[in-house]
Amino acid sequence: QKLTVVITGASSGVGLYTAKALAQKGWHIVMACRDLEKAAQAAQSVGMAPDSYTLIHLDLGSLESVHRFVINFRARDLTLDALLCNAAIYMPLLKEPLRSPEGYELTMTTNHLGHFLLCNLMLEDLKKSTAAAKRLVILGTVTHNPDELGGKIPPRPDLGNLEGFAAGFKAPISMIDGKQFEPVKAYKDSKVCNVLTMRELHRRYHSSTGITFSSLYPGCVADTPLFRNHYPLFQKLFPWFQKNITGGYVSQELSGERVAAVIADPEYSQSGAYWSWGNRQKKNGTSFVQKVSPQARDDEKAERLWDLSAKLVGLF
Ligand code: NDP
Repeated sequence: QKLTVVITGASSGVGLYTAKALAQKGWHIVMACRDLEKAAQAAQSVGMAPDSYTLIHLDLGSLESVHRFVINFRARDLTLDALLCNAAIYMPLLKEPLRSPEGYELTMTTNHLGHFLLCNLMLEDLKKSTAAAKRLVILGTVTHNPDELGGKIPPRPDLGNLEGFAAGFKAPISMIDGKQFEPVKAYKDSKVCNVLTMRELHRRYHSSTGITFSSLYPGCVADTPLFRNHYPLFQKLFPWFQKNITGGYVSQELSGERVAAVIADPEYSQSGAYWSWGNRQKKNGTSFVQKVSPQARDDEKAERLWDLSAKLVGLF
């Protein structure tokens, strides 16, 4: 039987090209997407064979939808050998927060809370896998880390003392630190939460389950639709800047190959690791395990984030 991977947000960008690369390696892809028609067209546009994927609806901006996705997944005759938490929204121009049906700010809900719930529910399915390497991978980003050039541009991520989560995270609260709404910071904060979640999953479950938990920064994939909510001029200049000035630019195709390798290749079996590629400094650099930001390696914060997130998504 083929190995099966669930990919959230497989309808565009990094997720789509990861789906393509894994299908080429012989995997079956569950495309967990909020717009199934778009996902089907996307799969076709990159030449994925119709029998290489299954479409199941998932809207990470709604906790109820996450529960429904898991029920629908379990109703199919599929194994779960890998889970890729890839979907994200980035809405830099918002003036007021958008909210999930539960009343939580939408960027944090989509990127972190929805995935947090999904990981917790699907651990059960992943545990049952008989694959030699079962993996749970969560996308990170350089902007989570102010120790790096790409992470120095303000506003910097700052989870504070998680005051916003502790106070219930509903209006008028919109940020994890309880401070004023800032949509770019909300994205960066959510990516710090992604890395903390990966590390806490590793601490809690790696030795008992054998699952490899990891995260990665695939490079600056400057022309994905992630930036569709930015100024048109930014969308034009950003890829040029990344190609010609920073040298950090990575094509969607290459980003997909990198993520697929972290899901499937034996070299990436280290759990708790955050992978990065050296090409930002020199061409064709190879992958290495990179130190994450001070906030993202704070074990106490990881534990507290876990408990508060569990409460917000109704796990206890
Ligand atoms: P895209 O915008 O191209 O893809 C995002 C995907 O997430 C789309 O499939 C989108 O669906 C999906 N999505 C958004 N909201 C939801 C939701 N509520 N429920 C389900 N799916 C949803 O972005 P990228 O490919 O660039 O980003 C993918 C990941 O890579 C993100 O985690 C991002 O943080 C990370 N990343 C990206 C970098 C880059 O330079 N682009 C760099 C480092 C990390 P739909 O098609 O319906 O909109």
